Order: sequence, then C-alpha cells, then structure tokens
Amino acid sequence: MARRALISGITGQDGAYLSAFLLEKGYEVFGIVRRSSASEAMTAKLKWLGVDQSVRLLDGNLTDLSSLIRIFREVRPDEIYNLAAQSFVQSSWNQPLLTAQVTGVGAANMLEATRLEAPGSRFYQASSSEMFGMAREPVQTEQTPFYPRSPYGVAKVFAHWSAVNYRESFGLHASSGILFNHESPLRGLEFVTRKVTDGVARIKLGRAGNLALGNLDARRDWGHARDYVRAMWLMLQQDRGDNYVVATGVTTSVRDLCRMAFETVGLEMEDHVTIDQRFARPAEVDVLLGNASKAKAVLGWQPTVGLRELVAEMVEADLKRVAAE
Ligand code: NDP
Ligand code: GDP
Repeated sequence: MARRALISGITGQDGAYLSAFLLEKGYEVFGIVRRSSASEAMTAKLKWLGVDQSVRLLDGNLTDLSSLIRIFREVRPDEIYNLAAQSFVQSSWNQPLLTAQVTGVGAANMLEATRLEAPGSRFYQASSSEMFGMAREPVQTEQTPFYPRSPYGVAKVFAHWSAVNYRESFGLHASSGILFNHESPLRGLEFVTRKVTDGVARIKLGRAGNLALGNLDARRDWGHARDYVRAMWLMLQQDRGDNYVVATGVTTSVRDLCRMAFETVGLEMEDHVTIDQRFARPAEVDVLLGNASKAKAVLGWQPTVGLRELVAEMVEADLKRVAAE
C-alpha cells in the first residue's frame, strides 16, 4: 500500500513543492486547507507545479483541534508535515495574537492530534531560522540559543519546543527542521526575494518605474524551496526524530540580492530602488547564516541551487507572469 502523507499548509510554497516531491515518490498526499471565499486562488501554487488534481484536500483549520482530529481519523497518515503558519514576519506585529494561535498553538494542536490519533506516525515541524533572531553566534547550528525578534519568531520557538517535548514525553517520532529562508517562483509576493524579482520584471516590461524597499543591509542565508522540502522528507526517514539546521552556509545582503536580480535583465538597481520606512521593522534580524553540517552528515543532504541561479529562475518566471497579465 502507498504511504500516506498529511500536509498542513499544502497551499503554500513549501506545501506545493513537498506535494510534488512526495507524489513522485509514490505517496498518497492529503492536505488540510482552510475555507476561503477565493477558492480558485487557493490551489494556484499546486496548479503551477501540475499537482492540484493529484492531491486530496480536506477542510480544516489549525486553530480547530476537532477539525484536525476528524481529518486524522479519515486519512490515517504515516507521515505528517506541519507547514501551516501565519508565516510573514512583518504581519506578526500587526496580528500577534493570531500568529501565536496559528503558528504556535496550531503546532501544539497538530501534535495533540498526532498523539491521540496517529501516535505511530512520523511528524515534521517547520521550525525557522527566525528563532535565532538576534543571533547569539555568528554561524548558527542546532546548539545555538534562540533569541526571537518578532511575534512570529516567538511563536515558532513555542512550536519548536513543543515538538521536542512531545518527542521526549510521549516518544513521538517528531523532527524539527530549523530551515533558513528558502525561496522559489512560488514564494509569496510580500517576501523580499519575490517582491524584488516581481519588481524587476515590472520595471523591465515598463509596468512600473521603481521598487520601494526597507532595510537593504539585512543579510539572509537563502536557498531553493525544492532542496529544502527534500530535507524535510529525509528527516522522517531516520530511525528517530531529531532537530536539524537546513541552510546553504552563504549569507547575502538584501542589497546584493537586489543587484543580482536587476543584473539578470541588464538594469542597475541604483536607478530604480527607493527606501520606504514603511517596510522597516520594529525589531530587525540583521544577519542569519546557518551551518547544515549535521543535515549533511546524518541525512546526506546538501543544497543543489545557488542564489544566483535561484534569482535568475525567479526573475524569468516573473517576466512570464507579468507579460501575461
Ligand atoms: P506559506 O506562507 O507559503 O504557506 C503557509 C500555509 O499555511 C498556507 O498554505 C496557508 O494557507 C496555511 N495556513 C495559514 N493559516 C492557517 C490556518 N489557520 N489553518 C490551516 N492552514 C493555515 O509558507 P511557506 O510555504 O513558505 O513555509 C512553510 C512553513 O515553513 C511555514 O510554517 C513557515 O513559517 C515555515 N518556514 C518557512 C521558511 C521559508 O523561508 N519559506 C523558513 C523557515 C520556516 P492559505 O493558502 O489559506 O493562506
Ligand atoms: P524574513 O527573513 O522571514 O523576515 O523574510 P523577508 O523576505 O520578509 O525579509 C528578509 C529581510 O529583508 C528582512 O530583514 C527585511 O527587513 C528585509 N527587507 C528589506 N526590504 C524589505 C521589503 O520591502 N519587504 C520585505 N518583506 N522584507 C524587506
């Protein structure tokens, strides 16, 4: 019988790439989706990868434990990937309590549903490098202490420790992937990489004159989402659950990312980028840089896509999308 995977957050960037990856491996893929008035937009990312017809979507919400229990009883999953979250750092200051409920308590709800309904299954928690925040060490590993800088980061720390605690308390096969920023043509438009590649496409095609950004000095360790969902799956194939940092080991400033993106279409960022304080944050994460040695040694994982290639793929996809509008 095919193995059954249940994904929360299946309509997001990682949910779409993970679905494609698991289908390719012969899994039956189920997803939890929250009801929306724009139901046609809901499956856009799955459609982009051509897998919307191959997954089964079930109506539920991370904040409603009864909906999760009903879904778990119906699916009887072998592997559970908890990817759902209010995932945008900037919004977490505007909606701190919702972020705590979905990103934090929502993960605890998923763990409870697993403990009650599928204790023999394997659980993946989408932890984040944002937990390192004001990083206590220049290069972050699984041992680096957390210092979150946003309501999002705080909620992710709660979710992370909940996964560790369920592993230690109840013997759940729960793994926490501390993933550094990962991007793709399916990244939400509000995140800086996609905002830049979409902006570059609009400027190149004469649909916009400039691009307003916030802090250009922030540095991130950016990888490709396709590489990162493979790491999630690898974690669940191990004999026991554990924590793993997943990163490229290269950090780049927003300014250099921007320069790269403009260069791919023969433009100079200095001619088009303006600074708008609306995009500055109440507390910033200045620099993130991960060391994925453990993932490499234990999982045999390493990234295959560098930032220049990733940015070129994103700009090309956005040029096509904007041209078709
Ligand atoms: P997205 O924002 O693209 O996807 C988030 C998903 O969560 C969407 O499917 C969304 O549904 C769903 N969701 C939100 N609220 C609820 C809710 N109350 N109930 C059920 N589903 C809900 O995120 P990514 O794919 O980029 O990231 C996946 C996970 O990994 C997230 O937890 C994120 O925080 C984490 N992460 C991401 C990193 C990155 O760089 N991408 C880095 C580290 C961690 P809808 O489509 O309806 O909005
Ligand atoms: P995050 O690392 O999860 O917060 O991912 P983002 O892509 O949202 O932001 C990455 C970094 O880019 C942060 O340090 C932001 O302050 C910085 N940044 C600069 N300008 C912008 C902008 O216009 N939008 C966003 N989203 N981030 C910006």
